Amino acid sequence: MPYLACTGCGKKHPLATDLRCADCGEPLEVRYETLTPPARLTEEPCFIARNVNIFPFPNLRPELSLGEGGTPLVEAVHLQRETGIGEIYLKNETVNPTWSFKDRGTSLGVQAALQLGFERVGTVSSGNMAASVAAFAARAGLEAFVYVAADIPESKLGPIAIYGCHLTRGTGDYGSLYYHALAFGKERGIYFISSDNPFRIEGQKTLAYEILDQLDYEPLDFIVLPVSSGGNMAAVIKGCEELVALGLIQKAPFVIGVQAAGCSPIARAAAEGKEKIEPFPNPDTIAHAIANPFPPSGNRILRKVREGRATVMAVSDEEIIAAQAFLAQKEGLFVQPASAAPVAAVRRLAAAGTLRPEHRVAVIVTGSGLKDTGALAHHHLEGETAERR
Ligand SMILES: *Cc1c(COP(=O)(O)O)cnc(C)c1O
Ligand SMILES: [Zn+2]
Repeated sequence: MPYLACTGCGKKHPLATDLRCADCGEPLEVRYETLTPPARLTEEPCFIARNVNIFPFPNLRPELSLGEGGTPLVEAVHLQRETGIGEIYLKNETVNPTWSFKDRGTSLGVQAALQLGFERVGTVSSGNMAASVAAFAARAGLEAFVYVAADIPESKLGPIAIYGCHLTRGTGDYGSLYYHALAFGKERGIYFISSDNPFRIEGQKTLAYEILDQLDYEPLDFIVLPVSSGGNMAAVIKGCEELVALGLIQKAPFVIGVQAAGCSPIARAAAEGKEKIEPFPNPDTIAHAIANPFPPSGNRILRKVREGRATVMAVSDEEIIAAQAFLAQKEGLFVQPASAAPVAAVRRLAAAGTLRPEHRVAVIVTGSGLKDTGALAHHHLEGETAERR
């Protein structure tokens, strides 16, 4: 039988609604007594049907899928040429149903909510998670409660509200909202599928499964991705470890998490060799999707850093803007600033010689540029006006 285990103290919990450990406060994760390999992408196109083997609940409902996952792995030919690295692949998550990777976790998170008997789901978000949860809840006929930070721009509310959810502007930043919402959810029977809900993690670990599947399980040296709450990075590391346990790969790729220097609580704690993150004062970055000043999975990531499986670094807004322009102008992909951060990191690590020509690297391109058109102002784009005749 699968069960939940605390990622901090290891304590076992039943496969139920608890999200964090009552003893130490750290996030719980799903563990399996025996792992079964997932179906290959070419065998089963439906995300939910493909992943029944690597998800702890039976009787899933594939008809609730919106076509999430199964995204393209594109060779970044121009980035390879520029950096001299032999193989760089972009996992293009911008083509998910709500234009970010969040849909993987939401899809299976909603399945878990249904199995656990909930009629209401909730999330705390600065944008992408909100739209994703609202969309999948609508599809499943669940009531959705979405909490957004007080300072979210007005223009970002409509694309969430359109799905017919209860939208509330919280007070305080994401860090404090997250813990507030957990308590509120318990009171009101709302199942929160926020960033590091254990079943969301099971959905997002499929990123690792799919990348290695698309590479025919040939050795991959690095996976590079942007980090905010730490949920997705924890999921990708878990997916890699499971692939090793399944015998599908020999060695887990080393995972490089990338934060924006203007909000980098995990990178800072990692650089200082700390075991615990501290709230990042006055976050300030154009990469809004990765601006969580007190990441709920921060300590969990630091444990993986100490185990030697991962690292977390920070890049500047200038590097992010340059990488966003490069991706659009050379590779033809318009991604949001958060998603350009790992490309900025690859450029810097290649220049420093940490990433070398013989390395094989996968970069997770997490969300669409159309989600944050405000960032276009940083690019000094000029339009030409056709002359009237
Ligand atoms: C949520 C998000 C991230 C960060 O993922 P976490 O699980 O919060 O660390 C990165 N990029 C985009 C586009 C996102 O929406
Ligand atoms: Zn614990």
